[in-house]
Parts: sequence; C-alpha cells; structure tokens
Amino acid sequence: MIERDLLPVIGPMLGMVAAVLLAVLAGWYLLRRVELGWRRRLAAAAAAEQQVRRMLDDLPEAVMLVDGDGFVRSANASTRDLIGRDVVGRPVHEAVTDDDQQVLREGWERVGAGAAVEPLLVRLRSDVTPPPLAEATFHRGRDGDGNGSDEILLRLRDVSERERQSAALEQARRRFQQAFHSAPTGMALVRLDDGRVVDANQSLGEMLGYPTRELIGRTLRELTHVDDVLEAVPHRARLELGIVDSYRVDQRFRRADGDYIWTRTRVSATEDDGVMLAITHIEDITEQRRTAELLTHAARHDDLTGLPNRAYLLHLLSERLRDAVPGAVAVVFVDLDQFKVVNDSLGHAVGDDVLVAIADRLREVVRDGDVLGRFGGDEFVVVLDGRDRPVEVGEVAERLRRSCLAPLLVADEELFVTASIGYALNTDPSATANDLMRDADAAMYRAKARGRDTVEAFEQGHREHSALALRTAGELRRAIAGGEIVPYFQPIVDLATGRVLGHEVLARWLHPDRGLLTPDQFLGVAEERGLIVDLGTVMLRDSLAQLARWRATDLDGARGTISVNVATRQLVDPAFHDLVAEVLAETGIDADSLWLEITETTLLADVKQVAVALRDLRSLGLHLAVDDFGTGYSSLTYLRRFPVEAIKIDRGFISGLGLESDDTTIVEAVVRLGQSLGLTVVAEGVESPLQLSRLRELGCDRAQGYLFGRPRPAALVEQEMTRG
Ligand code: C2E
Ligand code: CA
Ligand code: CA
Repeated sequence: MIERDLLPVIGPMLGMVAAVLLAVLAGWYLLRRVELGWRRRLAAAAAAEQQVRRMLDDLPEAVMLVDGDGFVRSANASTRDLIGRDVVGRPVHEAVTDDDQQVLREGWERVGAGAAVEPLLVRLRSDVTPPPLAEATFHRGRDGDGNGSDEILLRLRDVSERERQSAALEQARRRFQQAFHSAPTGMALVRLDDGRVVDANQSLGEMLGYPTRELIGRTLRELTHVDDVLEAVPHRARLELGIVDSYRVDQRFRRADGDYIWTRTRVSATEDDGVMLAITHIEDITEQRRTAELLTHAARHDDLTGLPNRAYLLHLLSERLRDAVPGAVAVVFVDLDQFKVVNDSLGHAVGDDVLVAIADRLREVVRDGDVLGRFGGDEFVVVLDGRDRPVEVGEVAERLRRSCLAPLLVADEELFVTASIGYALNTDPSATANDLMRDADAAMYRAKARGRDTVEAFEQGHREHSALALRTAGELRRAIAGGEIVPYFQPIVDLATGRVLGHEVLARWLHPDRGLLTPDQFLGVAEERGLIVDLGTVMLRDSLAQLARWRATDLDGARGTISVNVATRQLVDPAFHDLVAEVLAETGIDADSLWLEITETTLLADVKQVAVALRDLRSLGLHLAVDDFGTGYSSLTYLRRFPVEAIKIDRGFISGLGLESDDTTIVEAVVRLGQSLGLTVVAEGVESPLQLSRLRELGCDRAQGYLFGRPRPAALVEQEMTRG
C-alpha cells in the first residue's frame, strides 16, 4: 500500500533529484569554463603588460611615473641611460640640474592642479658636459572613475642635437644679416616667385637714392632700364629652373633722381623657409664704363671733327673687306687743295674751322652704312659699302667734290675750298685695307697732278707714278746701305727719382741734300718698298754696338737700357728672333738691357702670330713695351695675351694733360689700369712742367719727352754721360 501510495510521490522526487544533480553538474562545468577563461586572460594581460614595458624601455626618451609627492614611482630603461643614474624612489627634480629644478617643479605642480602645460626645456643632470638639453612633457594620470589622479607621467626627450642645429642655423642667419647690411656693395634679397624685394641693404639704398625701406616690396625690374629688362630674362629663367645657380648681367638702374647708373648685377639663388630667394649683388660700374667708353671713343675718333680717325677707319675697312666680294667695297680719298695756304695765311684756328665745316658737308653726302673718317690733316676718307647695294663710287666721289665748292664763311672771310679726290675698289680679293687706302691715295695724287678739284679712279700704274715715293725709295735703299740712316737717342727717365733709365733709339736720315730727315718723311716709303726690315736691322745693330762702346769706356750713364722700335714686318719675320740673339751675342749686351717697342697697331695685326713671336723674343730675356698706346682700339685687358711689361701712352694724350679734361681722364685711367695689370707705364712727349707734375700726381712710372731731352746723336749723348 505504502508502496502503492508512495509511488506517485517518489516518482517526481526522483525526477527533481535528477534535475538538481544535472543542474549542479552543469553549474560546475560552467564555473570551470569561466575559471579557465579568466586565468587565460590574466596570463595574457600579464604578457601584454610585459610587452608594454619592453616597448617603454625601448623608447628613446625617458618616461617616469611620478606620485603626488613628487617621487618617481617607476621609470623606463631609457631614463637611466639619459640621466645616468637610478631615479626610482627619488624626488623627480633630481633628474635635472640645480638651475632647472624650480622650473620642473612648477610645471609638475601646475599639471597636478589640472592645468595644461606646454613642453618645457630643461637641462638633465648628467656626467656629460654640457648637460643634455631635454624637452619635458607632463601627462596627468586618471583614476578608476576617470577623474584626475595625483600621479603624473613625465617624459624627457633629448633635444640637444636639434637645438644645436637650430642655434647654428640662427647664427648663420645672423652672420648673413650682418654681412648683408654692412656690405659695401648693394645687396637685395628678392623673392623668385614675384620678384619683390624682401630686404635691401644701406649701400643699395644709397646707390639708387632711396631709403632702404622704400625698396622693400618693390621689384628691381621696375627700376631697370627698359632696354636692359629683356637681357636678364633668360638668365633668370635658367636660375628658376635650377639649371644654373647664379648669373651676372650688366644693366642700368634708374635712381630716385631719374639718372641711370650702370651696374654689374650678380644673382644667386637660395632657399629660406621654403621660399626661393635671389641674393642680388649690385655693383655700381658707371664710372668704369664711362672711362672705358671715353677711352675707346677718344682712341677711335678725331678730336676736331668727331669723325673716326685713321686707325679706326683702317679697322672698319678691314672688317668690311673680310667678307666682301670683289668690287663691293670702295675707298674714296679726299684731300683739300692748298690747305697749307689757309693754315699759313689765316692761322690754325681758321684752318680748324674750315676742316670742321668741310667735314659737315662731306657728312651730308655720305649715306647710312658708309663711313666718313678723317685720315690726317686735311685728308678725309669715305668707305663705301656695297654689300647690300651697288657702289656708285664715281658718282659719290663727284658729289663729295661738289659739296666742297660753295663758299665757306669762316671768321668773316669768304673762302673757296676745292678737293682732289681719288678712289679705288677692292677688285683684287686679296687686297688689304692698307692696299686699298694706298691705291685711293695714289689716285688722289693723280687728281692733284691733273690740276686739282677733280676726281680720279685708281688705275694700275698710278702707284708707280707717285713720283716722290719713287725717288725716295731708290735713295732710301742706297741710304740704308750707305750708313745715312743713323740712330738718335732720347732719354727715358724714372719719374720718382728723375734718373735716366735708358734711351729710346729713333731713326734719322742724314740726307746729303735735304739735311736731317725724320721718320715721318721716310718710314712710309720704307714700309711700302719692303725696306723696313733692312732699316730696322741697321738700327738694332748700330744702337747696340753704340751702347757696347759706351759701356767699354765705362761711361757713367751707359749702364742704362736701350729701347728699339720694331715694325710689324720685322716682328713677323721668322729670322728676327735669331737676328736679335745674334746682335746681342755680337755686341755682348745682356738681353736684360734691351727693350723692344711694338706699336699697338702691330699687336692687332695678327694676334696669334704676333703673340707667338713676342713669346719667342721674350724668352731671350729682353723686355717688351707697347708703343703709342691709345691710338689703336685695343683695351688694356686685351694686352694680357701678350708678354709685355710696359705701355707707352701716346703723346697725343699727354699734350692735353692738365688742360683737356678728357685727356687727363684717359691718362689717369691708363695709368691706373696699367698698374693694376702689373705693367710699367711710360708717358711719351712730355714737354711741360705742368704735364710732369700731373704725371707725378697720377703715379705714372716713367716719362720721355723734350722736357728731359730731345733725340740726339750718339756723340752729344756721350758728352752728357761723361759730365754725369
Ligand atoms: P715713337 O716710337 O712714338 O717715338 C717717339 C716720337 O716722339 C719720336 O718721333 C720723338 O722724336 C718724338 N718725341 C719725343 N719727345 C717728344 C716731345 O716732347 N714732343 C714731341 N712733339 N715729340 C716728341 P720721331 O723720331 O719722329 O719718330 C716717329 C716715329 O717713327 C716713332 O714714334 C716710331 O714709331 C717710328 N720710328 C722711329 N725710329 C724707328 C725705327 O728705327 N724703326 C721703326 N720701325 N720705327 C721707328
Ligand atoms: Ca717708340
Ligand atoms: Ca710712341
């Protein structure tokens, strides 16, 4: 019964027990699972912490956890490396030098109070000197509720290297600024992108006549002469593209007062804080250019008429001949008839006026592209250039002749002037400028012979009929052989001491009938008839032999030098070098006592050939001087190609010294430039004490001229020496 009664009860109870058991089992199982996961996670967290720690240790900066009392609770490995000692458990401010402790403490306190603090610069306490400079950054820690805790994370980063570099940069900048502002040349910093001036120095302001600040913000381009603006454009483009890093141009700038100055402008590119800048150096070369222009102009033009002079004419003519077809270039030689009568009866001043008036008339006839020049006294030359149009030379010559005919009113006198005119064409393609000039001249003589006021074309045969030349040539040949050509000696003095340094040898013809002839009366013929080499040889031999005789008798003044003139023809003669060597050996004169004078025009004849010849001669140990400097059209710098040691300023420039301001400027420029090239400067044709004192003031080295002594025969010079 019971069993029967119990059955319905036991059944559910058993079921419950089973359910409970199952639940306990499941709970246990679950707990176990959770516990396992939790342990694993704990282990993983520990590993991660290890990793963070390692990463902290690897950081190149010091990272410290500082507690509310300012003690370091923990620190990464770099802290030790950086500070050089263990800081854990020590007050944090011990990490920095005594001077910086206060700074650090304040920063740290402010962060503690919840303020944001910018990174601070502090010096670390360290065994290294100077102590490393560090940037200190603070981070306030957080507690579990996300509120600010009183723990602070301090990071110290070594910035010594960065600071050193920026200090060096700063110093370089300061130095540049200093140099920039105190530079004696004008300087500007210009932005490459818009060309505006960022900075300009005092010198530039003065040069351009503006206060410096007024230049800032402007462009240099707006101050550049319109004709020069384009010049700089391609340079500028290359600079901007980085193809070049600097360039130089000569250009004009307009000053505040409206005047223009010539400058040499050098530009180089630089970068400053990502901005491309042009450093611009501006040097005022106005004076230099003016002198150079004056020098070339004066050297190339005739003072009186302003026309090209003989040397320049010859130069222009040679240029035109160079690429001209036969018959395309003509030379017209105009010589006034009986001009000497005007000069002698009415005086030189009237003569000058006539020349100026005639020059004006001839100028009217000459077309653009043709050249009118003054060849000498009353001789004018027209070079007709027919490269682009036919030369109607006969017609032009006729017009030139007629233009002279109308009466001239000069000094209240009515004068009638006529001209004899000859012309020649470059029919022979190998004709040189000199050939053509000579042919036109011969034709002109022919015109004179035919009764003046006529035009004559050159014909072969004219040359031979130039009667005077013909007679002189024959005589000259005999004279050279017969000892009628003798050396005269003119002293050259040292301007500082007044001492005679030596003598220049000048040729004289002791003509049996015509008396004493000077080189202008026979050198032309000698050149033309190929006698100049013989004449030169005689002069060299005779003068050195004379010097040797003086030295043999132990004359006081005979220790000086001898200067001998050398013609182009001699210089380019391959035998000349040996001749000089031979004469030196023969006479026993040391090469050091011999100077050879080469005219400026010779130097220009055939630069390469002449340069080689001069070098050969120089190697003998003798000295070389450039004669008649200023009459050609070379520049002093051009002379550097030749091994010359002295220049002789042509006496044409000396005559106006102290009187004509142009002459004075030129002489001054030549002396200065000559000396800057290491050349000895000799003044020729010094006649007056005024010229002498000017030359002394200018610092000229040597001088020669009537003031010190005329060219004299050996016997007279010898007397002087004996007395001295
Ligand atoms: P140069 O070489 O320039 O010689 C200087 C000329 O100036 C000489 O003229 C001299 O007499 C002259 N002179 C010197 N001092 C004064 C002065 O104070 N006032 C003036 N008005 N003139 C002065 P010179 O002797 O008539 O010679 C003329 C040129 O002939 C020389 O110019 C030279 O180029 C050339 N020459 C002279 N002898 C020779 C020579 O042997 N061979 C060559 N190839 N040329 C010579
Ligand atoms: Ca000379
Ligand atoms: Ca001379």
